[in-house]
Amino acid sequence: MSLWMELERDGFEQLVWCRDRESDLTAFIAIHSTKCGPALGGCRLWPYANEEAAAQDAMRLARSMTYKAAAAELPYGGGKAVVIGQVGDAANAKRFEALGRFIDRLNGAYWTGVDVGTTATDMDFVALHTPFVTDTTGSLGGTGDWTADMTAYGVYVGIQVSARRVLGSRSLAGIAIAVQGLGKVGWALCRYLYRAGAQLIVTDLSASLMEQAVREFKALPVAVDRVYDAPCQIFAPCALGGIINEGTIDRLQCRIIAGSANNQLRDPSFALALKQQNILYAPDYVINAGGVIATAAELDGEGTFRTRSRVKRIGRTLESVYAEAERTNEATTLAADRFAELRM
Ligand code: NAD
Repeated sequence: MSLWMELERDGFEQLVWCRDRESDLTAFIAIHSTKCGPALGGCRLWPYANEEAAAQDAMRLARSMTYKAAAAELPYGGGKAVVIGQVGDAANAKRFEALGRFIDRLNGAYWTGVDVGTTATDMDFVALHTPFVTDTTGSLGGTGDWTADMTAYGVYVGIQVSARRVLGSRSLAGIAIAVQGLGKVGWALCRYLYRAGAQLIVTDLSASLMEQAVREFKALPVAVDRVYDAPCQIFAPCALGGIINEGTIDRLQCRIIAGSANNQLRDPSFALALKQQNILYAPDYVINAGGVIATAAELDGEGTFRTRSRVKRIGRTLESVYAEAERTNEATTLAADRFAELRM
């Protein structure tokens, strides 16, 4: 299907091709929806193979931001910017400045921020040319730890709700939880789970992070490609997307999948396959909305205490999604999509 047909089919409002020869910037800004408010969604820096791959990624991510914001009942829509390039390239400063000029022309229809590959310093360069940017140096979001911590907190609350539903357990003490990825979110999640008494199983590409997790959380380390076989009650993907696929689904030992990674299912049809395997799947954009809730709260000038209680509401949303999926006997992702669409 052509890019244009995809834009039409998925109801996009705008796709902006940003080309600045002077800085050699090639970027795309996808605005999926501003129906509920200005489109929020960070800026990704990635060495895409070509422009089509970059545009498609921007579109996919922007659409899921619309659903994420709507499911979290935020007065914002969904958008995303992607820049084709490499982390650490000295020319990036000029490129982010140029991106700032493109964003400014959108007059606030799209707000950018940090995402994979970008930092608060990159956002400082964007901010030289537009006010429509968050996560700059000195802001709460700019520390990275705050949004990641709120994302982890939302996942933690979601895990509690899921455990209560499937395992009938009000406490996570002694529950085996496999965490894939010990980055900003995965590490913060391990801290919450460890304090709650969970038995952690961990994996990461970094051997030193694994060693640290063994020391700090008494975690059991497993090799990167063995985490799918790990005997556990809950699997928390906090690294990459697409990890539930033909090669992994039959290996899963868990009863629940609840983690922060975006687009965990390689294809939407895996949601039904998980249901048939009797595995409860927490739809990713519902359970990982803590970061965007924190960004929205910062834009609205709310304090950190209030933000935490807003993130906690992810638990109630998940309960509604699970109840609806049970009532209609369908995959949780379909119930989540309807929940979000009703609020758009
Ligand atoms: P991060 O880059 O800080 O951490 C990712 C970690 O995953 C790294 O430690 C990396 O070594 C590890 N990893 C990569 N491939 C792996 C593999 N095959 N097996 C095991 N570990 C692997 O990223 P993050 O900010 O912690 O985000 C984690 C996930 O959550 C991403 O999918 C991200 O899109 C999603 N997410 C993050 C936020 C946020 O606030 N940071 C919000 C919503 C969603």
